[in-house]
Amino acid sequence: MDYIKLSNNLEVPQLGFGVFQIAPEDTKEAVKKAIEVGYRHFDTAQAYFNETQVGEAIEESGIDREEFFITTKVWHSSHGYEETKKACEESLNKLKTDYIDLYLIHQNIGDIFATWRALEDLYDEGKVKAIGVCNFTPSRFTNLSLHSKIKPMVNQIEINPFYQQDSQEKFYEKYDAVIESWGPLAEGKNNIFSNPILKEIGEKYDKTVAQVILRWILQRGIIVFPKSVKKERMIENFNIFDFELSSEDMEKIKELETGNPIANIDDPMFIEAISKYGV
Ligand code: NAP
Repeated sequence: MDYIKLSNNLEVPQLGFGVFQIAPEDTKEAVKKAIEVGYRHFDTAQAYFNETQVGEAIEESGIDREEFFITTKVWHSSHGYEETKKACEESLNKLKTDYIDLYLIHQNIGDIFATWRALEDLYDEGKVKAIGVCNFTPSRFTNLSLHSKIKPMVNQIEINPFYQQDSQEKFYEKYDAVIESWGPLAEGKNNIFSNPILKEIGEKYDKTVAQVILRWILQRGIIVFPKSVKKERMIENFNIFDFELSSEDMEKIKELETGNPIANIDDPMFIEAISKYGV
């Protein structure tokens, strides 16, 4: 496993396992399988409704809590100082732990500053070991960074071959922040697994399309946590540390950029739609 250091020196396993869209009744089994495969980094959220099952799988593994890296996120319907502190307590209870490794603001909606003050205090209290955001554009990230005591250590954003966000590494370097990729496999959309360019690259290294994509993200210095409920795919997605894509192949993947995200976080219609959805 490779690790990425955050600005506070906390080390994050660069490859993790995401549990978005895994039904609560399937989550414990999926996380147990992922632990067997070797995953120790799990990405969940208040709004995924499966923190309890993630916590159960981790507890029942019998492996020390310190060996895991757990991320969860506060949903906008819990934004505000007191509400966020309450949401964090609930997440801690569900996850059956006394600390969260990385606590994130899930969407850039509502009272971000009061919510961020709560995250700063939770960090100072040691209840969360690192804090950050998701789905912030560079301008919103700059605003929060410049007007807070603690700058966000992470921005979790959509990154996949069809939506690469190429200029972002340089931008977040400036703020000493690390990027995490959500939807790395484009959630399987647009026939990604039969894309001819990715297939051709994979054949050269005797690797699958999923492995090529995940390796491409690792080599950009980005943290990634693909989701799968199938053990053979969990194994496949884990086996990406024994090869390296050439700079020519890294360049070739750039040709796949479409400019079209799965979620257009800067579109007022997206904000309207997400705002209606509470937990
Ligand atoms: P993803 O990981 O890009 O894609 C998951 C899809 O790919 C599933 O349909 C899965 O199917 C399939 N898959 C996985 N490995 C495969 C393989 N090796 N070969 C073929 N198919 C494969 O999508 P995601 O779950 O949206 O993103 C990953 C994580 O990012 C999430 O779980 C979540 O933790 C996080 N996330 C965060 C946000 C945010 O707003 N912060 C938004 C979205 C996601 P099977 O399960 O059937 O294998």
